[in-house]
This record gives sequence, structure tokens and C-alpha cells, in this order.
Amino acid sequence: MIYPWLTAHWDFFTQRLEQSRLAHALMIEGPDGGGKNALAAAMVARLLCTENEPEACGRCFSCKLLAGGAHPDRFDIQPEEDSTVIKVDQVRELIASLNLTCSVSQRKVAYIHPAQNMNMASANALLKCLEEPVGDAVLILVCSEPSRLPVTIRSRCQSIVIHEPDAGLVLQWLKETSARPEADVSMALAAAGGSPLRAASYLQAPESNAYGQVQEALATLLTRPAAVSQVSTGLAKLGPDDLWRWLSMCVTELVKSVMGGKGTNWLPADSRLQVTSLLALQQQADLNRRLSASPIRGDLLLQDWLIRWAEQSFQ
Ligand SMILES: [Zn+2]
Repeated sequence: MIYPWLTAHWDFFTQRLEQSRLAHALMIEGPDGGGKNALAAAMVARLLCTENEPEACGRCFSCKLLAGGAHPDRFDIQPEEDSTVIKVDQVRELIASLNLTCSVSQRKVAYIHPAQNMNMASANALLKCLEEPVGDAVLILVCSEPSRLPVTIRSRCQSIVIHEPDAGLVLQWLKETSARPEADVSMALAAAGGSPLRAASYLQAPESNAYGQVQEALATLLTRPAAVSQVSTGLAKLGPDDLWRWLSMCVTELVKSVMGGKGTNWLPADSRLQVTSLLALQQQADLNRRLSASPIRGDLLLQDWLIRWAEQSFQ
């Protein structure tokens, strides 16, 4: 199934394929939660399928092998379990395998993700393969931060860019797939920062009102600043990546409402918020989201941030 906001990308791919004009290497670029990996998976399946249908048939021997995770002509290159880097040995091994004869399908397909996690040595090894393509092999690179890849790699790939999709289209899809009321769906999409698949996962999760929970926690601290420790324990259960994104979004919303001279429906009407403090809190939340992937103690980052938030009640 191709997500409705990706049909133009899919059509581009199938037209090129049918006209035998598909590049040897494709680079799918776009933010996380926009469907890059699903699009890549559909392309891999279509390229390997032995039936000539618009999408992979799901019935042939190739499709069955792929569904079982054991297709000999498909190569999945991603950081190994103990690493965040795609290592040069993985790329060399891939190139050696691509040189062998196909076993089942007409071509071999390599799926490399996230491509920005290649180090310089891996990227250089791959570059040789991009300069001198191997037979009918197709490389599909998936990347959320293309600027981290050498220009030489990017310039040798056919680029397929996924932009943030039209909100109306996504809301309609979320309503249909989740069968939830419009208000829940809009809230989830706002909490997900416009990312369709992240919004869908919020709607599936039982704690899908987590964004509301974050707003409530912030409101509590303005009236009871001493509750930092208790509020922090409750919020920590939400997971750092989502939590910092939501805290940043809540504060951004407040900056807009203070600058527009309006209140919000989730804070006490007499809250005295200042734009400078809010902007500093928002920057800190964005920084803490990046730090949350490092070994720094997340509970201390959160408590420190909440104390700074609560201090606004004394201003
Ligand atoms: Zn098939």
C-alpha cells in the first residue's frame, strides 16, 4: 500500500521503471515519520517481484521470499546492533555480493538506511560502486539528513524528496485509518509536528492524549511550582524524544499567543509569561531533545528545565 501523500513519488518511480529509465541509485530524502522507509520497501518489493504488475504482486516466489525475510537478491544495509555507523566492511561485502549472479529475481536490490550513518570510508567505498554500477543492481538509499552525506554521493543518485505533506490529505487519511474523531486526529497531528506516521502511532497508543498530559503538567507547575519532582516523574514515562518535542511545541504555541496578545485554553488566564523566557525554554527543549540521545542523565535535564519553567510563576 502506498500512502496517499506518496502517490506522485510512486508514479515517478514506476514510470521510470516501465520506461527502463530508472537510475542505478535512488536517494529517498525526507523527515522522519513521513513514510520514506515504507516507500523504499514498496520499491524494493516491486523491483524484485517477478510479475509485471503496478505494485509487487505478493504471490510470486520472490514476494514470498521477501515476506519471509530471506530473499537472496535483497541486501539490507543498516548500522549493526552495537553501532550507529554503517561500516566500510558492510559496504565492501555488499559490493562483492552485487557482483554475483542473481538467484531469483531479474536484479539485485540494496536498501541502505539511514544513509547519513555511513562514515567517510563507507561513503568512499559506495562511491566507487555508484561510479561503476554493477549489472542490473539498484541501490536505494534512505536519508533524513542529506547534508551529512558527501555531495559526490548525492549527485550520483536520482533524488526523490518527500516534503511535509498537505495537512488536509493527512487528516483525512488519519481519520479513515484510526476511526477517531476529528478533534483527536487534529491534536495528534499537531503533537506530531505534522508527521503523518508519528501522528498515527500516537492515535494507536492508549496514552495518545500524551500531548494534553504535557500541557496539564505545565499548567500545574505555574500554580504549584514545588511539584517539579512529582510532575517530572510523570512526564519521564512519555519517552524523551516525544516529550522534548511536545515541550518545545507547547512553548512555541505560547510564544505565538503572547505575541498575538491572546491567552491559551490550557493555562490559567492570569499567567504572566514573557516571550524572552519562553524562547529560551524552547531553545533548551530542542537542545535537550538532541542531548537525550547521548549518555547525559535525562531525569536531571528534565527537572532542570521544569524548574526554569516553574520560575515563570514568580516573574
Ligand atoms: Zn511478486
